[in-house]
Amino acid sequence: MQSCEIAIVGSGFAGSLLARVLAVLGYDVVLLERGTHPRFAIGESSTPLANLSLERLGLRYGLVDCYHLATHGRWLAHFPELRRGLKRGFTFYRHHPDQPFENRGLDSERLLVAASPDNSLSDTHWLRADLDHHFVRQAVAAGVDYRDCVDILSADVASDSVHLSVSRNGTAFELRANFLIDASGPGGFLARQLSLTSGLEHTETRSAIVFSHFSGVRLMNDVAPGMPEGPYPDDWSAVHHLIDEGWMYSLRFDDGVTSAGFLLTPQGATALNSSGAADAEALWRALVQRYPTIASAFAEATPLMPIAFQPAIQHRLTRAAGERWALMPHAYAFVDPLFSTGIAWSLRAVERLALAFESTAHHRRVPDSDVLTRYNAALDAEADQIDHVVAGAYEAMTHFDLFAAHAMLYFVTVSFAEVSQRLAPEESVAWNGFLGIGDPVLDPLPRESLRRLRHITRRRGDIGTSDDRRGFAEWVTHAIAPRNIAGLAQPERRNLYPVDFDALIERHALLGMSRLRLLAALPALRGMAPEPPFAYQSVGGRATSLRDRPAPARGRPAPR
Ligand SMILES: Cc1cc2nc3c(=O)[nH]c(=O)nc-3n(C[C@H](O)[C@H](O)[C@H](O)COP(=O)(O)OP(=O)(O)OC[C@H]3O[C@@H](n4cnc5c(N)ncnc54)[C@H](O)[C@@H]3O)c2cc1C
Repeated sequence: MQSCEIAIVGSGFAGSLLARVLAVLGYDVVLLERGTHPRFAIGESSTPLANLSLERLGLRYGLVDCYHLATHGRWLAHFPELRRGLKRGFTFYRHHPDQPFENRGLDSERLLVAASPDNSLSDTHWLRADLDHHFVRQAVAAGVDYRDCVDILSADVASDSVHLSVSRNGTAFELRANFLIDASGPGGFLARQLSLTSGLEHTETRSAIVFSHFSGVRLMNDVAPGMPEGPYPDDWSAVHHLIDEGWMYSLRFDDGVTSAGFLLTPQGATALNSSGAADAEALWRALVQRYPTIASAFAEATPLMPIAFQPAIQHRLTRAAGERWALMPHAYAFVDPLFSTGIAWSLRAVERLALAFESTAHHRRVPDSDVLTRYNAALDAEADQIDHVVAGAYEAMTHFDLFAAHAMLYFVTVSFAEVSQRLAPEESVAWNGFLGIGDPVLDPLPRESLRRLRHITRRRGDIGTSDDRRGFAEWVTHAIAPRNIAGLAQPERRNLYPVDFDALIERHALLGMSRLRLLAALPALRGMAPEPPFAYQSVGGRATSLRDRPAPARGRPAPR
């Protein structure tokens, strides 16, 4: 019988990062992976909140690479060999069947929300094959016992330990651990072992996906030229094409490869199937051809792997933690890629579990039940919140004005969280509720928005009257006002939102700060604060100093 303190199942970035942090804290960790690296993974578009978590992990545990991978500029300077894409913000267009996207100047059905003030501070799309592989290698270097190609035959969770039966390359072994973390994603490995019940029936969002990676995708700026200049070049972002059947994402990596997929509502998928699109490729072709501007963008595109179809991507469990075990968010629940919540939520959970183990490193060496109860409650509320934000967005897709108004709920929530966290970077922010959970203003809004939208659409795709739509937008503007530090939901912006430091300064009181205090804090928000000289806390004597890092490799310039 082999033994370790913590067994982690699944070596996506969440499992590998958590394993590595726990090794840094002095725990004896085994990381078990079914496949091998490098390997394809979906879930590529990062956000400011994800990067904040990555920075905090880097600083707290001396993971220098995490700090450098948290902005596009630092990534390029330090890790040019890891493929990534420049993501300046969120771009949305509304397309209509058999009509080219209509350039109506500032009245176009187009919404751009910048997430960073310039390229160097920008977020990134992660080429997961490269980044996940990198994090596994770093975990091994930190002392994690990594074993790939494993088949976990059973997991027996008792009150004092966990017992795993594992087969690797045909050889069986038994592993005893004090604690088990399921980071295996949507497969439901631990849910099956523990007979955890599904909570899917209580959730709202349903979608199917058809997706691949492509070369040769043309820029929107080329196929729909002449649009008014936005806060960043439209294509260097997470591009969302809203269509009658759902929506499409298009994420461009710096080397020109594009990750693209259509998310289809149940009605959208059924309509396509009944029109004869039977397999993934036929579905893809039918969708692309129905929308002429998307068809132009993909006219010369070649899939770099077979186009894949999944009829349902949602999953949800009813428990996220118990005595001696915990699930990472992606093992617990997944809603939809809309608004790119997955990476940020997963990294927040890495932080929370790392803090839980850190606080018990000199005592029981497994988290107390009250911490696990808190973790469970947080994930439960947050999964519901993501579901409501996304379900509302699907409802709002019937009319671009409704969508643009509802989207403001998301952007106000994350911009308020980002600025608050940057201004008060203490460790406890990892436990702040994700997407406004626990905030008396923001917490109830997604559910209420969904209710109001359904009243307008009658759950059958109605667009309501112009008064209905104006009334909804006014309600959003009013509801988010106490947290709207970013100057969002302003009609005079014409749906083109830069990062607006002037609005932030003007609204200093919403952050509970004087104007002078906010001005003093601005360098941290503008990314002009000096690079931290060393991990601000060295834990277990193994956290490395940022000073120890070798001189950076020369990077390629960021695309413009
Ligand atoms: C279609 C889609 C699009 C998405 N887009 C975005 C996005 O744009 N932005 C965003 O933030 N999030 C997105 N997400 C969410 C994102 O994919 C997840 O948040 C992220 O992958 C979670 O990482 P992870 O390491 O927890 O799990 P995963 O990436 O799922 O990794 C799980 C690992 O566990 C291994 N494994 C599985 N089963 C076993 C087993 N039984 N034994 C051992 N190993 C096992 C797998 O091989 C894999 O290596 C998307 C998700 C989907 C489904």
